[in-house]
Amino acid sequence: MRLQGKTAIVTGGAQGQGAAIAAAFVAEGARVAIADLADTEGEALARELGESARFEHHDVSDPDSWVRLVATVEDAWGPVDVLVNNAGVLRFGSVEKMPLAEFDLLVAVNLRGCFLGMQSVARSMRKNAGGSIINTSSIEGLGGMAFCTAYAGTKWAIRGMTKAAAMELGPSGIRVNSVHPGMIDTAMTRVHGGDEAMAYGASKVALKRVGQPDDVAPFYVYLASDESSFVTGAEFAIDGGATATHAFGG
Ligand code: NAD
Repeated sequence: MRLQGKTAIVTGGAQGQGAAIAAAFVAEGARVAIADLADTEGEALARELGESARFEHHDVSDPDSWVRLVATVEDAWGPVDVLVNNAGVLRFGSVEKMPLAEFDLLVAVNLRGCFLGMQSVARSMRKNAGGSIINTSSIEGLGGMAFCTAYAGTKWAIRGMTKAAAMELGPSGIRVNSVHPGMIDTAMTRVHGGDEAMAYGASKVALKRVGQPDDVAPFYVYLASDESSFVTGAEFAIDGGATATHAFGG
C-alpha cells in the first residue's frame, strides 16, 4: 500500500500504459480518476478496479475540461496528490509532407495537454503541501527518429517543461519528473505495423523485446509515492536499453 490515501489523476488512463498505471495505483491504495476521451474503455476499467476508481470524460487539450475534472475529483476525494500526464497521440509524417492539422493535433494533446495538466493541479496540490506530477514523454524526447519530427517536438518539450516546472513548483513541495518509455506494446504502436513492427522494435534494443504496459507502471508507482521524495526535475528511460546504444544498435 505504497500510495495509501493518495488521490491521483491519470490522463489517457482508459487503455494502454495509462490503464496499467491506474490499476497499479489502485492496487497500492490510491484513489484514481481515469481521465480520457475513450468512454467505453474508461468506464469498463473503472468498474473493474472498483470503488477506488472513477472514470471522468476529459479532453486534456481543453482548459474547461481541466477545471471540471479537478473540481470533481476534489469534491469526491479531496485535493489532488498525484497527476500523471499520460494522454498522448502519435502520428508519423515527413517534415515536408505532414499536414499542419496533424502537427497541431500533436501539439494540442501532447504538449498543451501536459502544460494545462500541470497548471490545473498545482493549486490543488498546495492544499496538501505538495504532490507529484509525472509527465509521460518518450525516448523520442531523448533522441530523434525520421518521420517523427512533430511527435518528437512535443516529447522534447515535455522533457523541458518538466525541468522548468520542477524548479518553479519545488518550493511548494510539488515534484515534477518525466518518464521516457521505449517501444511499448499498446494500440498506439500496434496500429503502425502490428507484429512486424513489434519484432523490428524488439530487434533494436538490448533486452530484445518490446515493453508491456506492466513494465512501466511500477516506475510510476515509485514516482507517485513518498519513496521518491527527493526526486524532481529528473528524466527516466524505461526502454529495454533503446537509448543505451548509438545508431549502429546491438
Ligand atoms: P494508447 O493509444 O494505448 O493510449 C493513449 C490514451 O490517451 C488513449 O486512451 C486515448 O483515448 C487517450 N487520449 C488521446 N487523446 C486524448 C485527449 N485529448 N484527452 C484525453 N485522453 C486522450 O497509447 P499508450 O502507448 O498507452 O501511450 C501513453 C503515453 O505514452 C502517450 O503519451 C504516448 O505518447 C507515450 N509513449 C508511448 C510509447 C509506446 O511505444 N506505446 C512509447 C513512448 C511514449
